[in-house]
Amino acid sequence: MTQSWRKGRRVAVIGAGPGGVSTAIAMLKAGYDVRLYERNPAPKPLGGAVLLSVPVLAVLRHYGVDIGDSFGQKVRTEFRNPKGQVRVRLGFNAAVERAMGIEGWHYGILRSSAFERMMDILTRLDPDCLQAGQAFQSYEDTGDEIVVRFDSGSTVTADLVVGADGIRSGVSRQAFGDPGLFHVGLRVWLAWCEDIPDLPKDVGALAHGRTVQASYFPMKHDGKPGFEWWIVEKSGESAPAPPDTPQAVEAHLRALLRGFSGPVTRFIDHTDVARQVFRWEIYNRPSLPHYTRGRVACVGDAVHPVSPYAAYGMGMAIEDGYFLARSFEGRDLDPAVLAAGFARYEAERVAYCNHQVEFARKLGNQFHHAPAPVAWLRDQIFDRTGILQRLIEKDYLADAEKMSMQLRELHVAQA
Ligand SMILES: Cc1cc2nc3c(=O)[nH]c(=O)nc-3n(C[C@H](O)[C@H](O)[C@H](O)COP(=O)(O)OP(=O)(O)OC[C@H]3O[C@@H](n4cnc5c(N)ncnc54)[C@H](O)[C@@H]3O)c2cc1C
Repeated sequence: MTQSWRKGRRVAVIGAGPGGVSTAIAMLKAGYDVRLYERNPAPKPLGGAVLLSVPVLAVLRHYGVDIGDSFGQKVRTEFRNPKGQVRVRLGFNAAVERAMGIEGWHYGILRSSAFERMMDILTRLDPDCLQAGQAFQSYEDTGDEIVVRFDSGSTVTADLVVGADGIRSGVSRQAFGDPGLFHVGLRVWLAWCEDIPDLPKDVGALAHGRTVQASYFPMKHDGKPGFEWWIVEKSGESAPAPPDTPQAVEAHLRALLRGFSGPVTRFIDHTDVARQVFRWEIYNRPSLPHYTRGRVACVGDAVHPVSPYAAYGMGMAIEDGYFLARSFEGRDLDPAVLAAGFARYEAERVAYCNHQVEFARKLGNQFHHAPAPVAWLRDQIFDRTGILQRLIEKDYLADAEKMSMQLRELHVAQA
């Protein structure tokens, strides 16, 4: 290694997904020596599009990512019934908008576009930070320092190891034991397509039938308009999926869309199913009480994989990296600094992220696993009352808005 690797400043980040890249950027900016280890020959973002929310955009802007007009598409989020009747309209919080200098709440963007912009920043900060083709195998924490072993046989000695290696994280498994992953009973078909000019670009909708969700959001890919759309269906560990051919997948998706009306039924006609549709079986783990141990901290899916109902897994992974780096205040990573930093990181992240995960799971269960009579009653209540609106405001938005107001260093103006 030709770069500096100073005792007290050495940070080995495992996994170059959004959480790992965010952590690496934040730690480099705070003056640490950072190596980012990725098992693949090059980092590659997952397929499809994502929604990112205002606090995540504010973190990215702080890193130096240009979140101007070409970054993402500002979207108003609505929950609807299958016929298009609006059940929930996510409000914008004027105080957050003012403080952050960012309008709205959700922005749609192709994952690869967002990821490439983060990688650009990382490369500019340290062109040699990324060590690709290095798969984490195990670590040995001596208390004074920590040695990481890779499948290649090489090792690195660091002061802090950050596990950002995703839902099947080896770092997290060694630190906290078997994750006990379980299928949450949902399968997601995540798709995207080019623009459909006559559709409005400022509103995205999640429409729920009795057991199927069919949703869409305007987004930007490489600065150009397009749409992200997805279908969530009930699934299970051994539930059969259609054969993996574009024809079979298309027929399956068209069948799931029966019973829905409005824009959500149109996207499939504009989508190249072989190239632009991705299937996901969704897994979670029981919530962890800690995200740190010894000289190890974990971020993102390594400690809180979340159902896409939250549309926040990538967002939380990016935020985690920012919060973790901030907690050390640029000081040398001796045991006392690590202990204080980890305590702060956990106080700021564990309850917050676990709540988002658990709420997303609860919502997924309510919409996809309620017995038929209960589902009928649920729909009557959601169509006729403001209960769902209040639930989303309280359990999904409130904590994130509060956190946004507390991130004063990211504010452009005093609220
Ligand atoms: C269908 C679907 C829709 C979603 N929609 C949204 C959305 O709208 N908004 C949102 O914010 N989130 C969304 N998410 C969630 C989001 O994709 C994840 O939460 C996010 O990718 C987690 O980032 P991460 O960096 O923690 O892990 P990952 O993205 O999984 O990255 C982990 C990295 O670690 C590497 N790695 C793994 N093992 C090793 C090893 N042994 N050694 C070295 N490297 C290793 C991997 O190759 C990978 O590069 C969605 C997820 C799904 C499935």
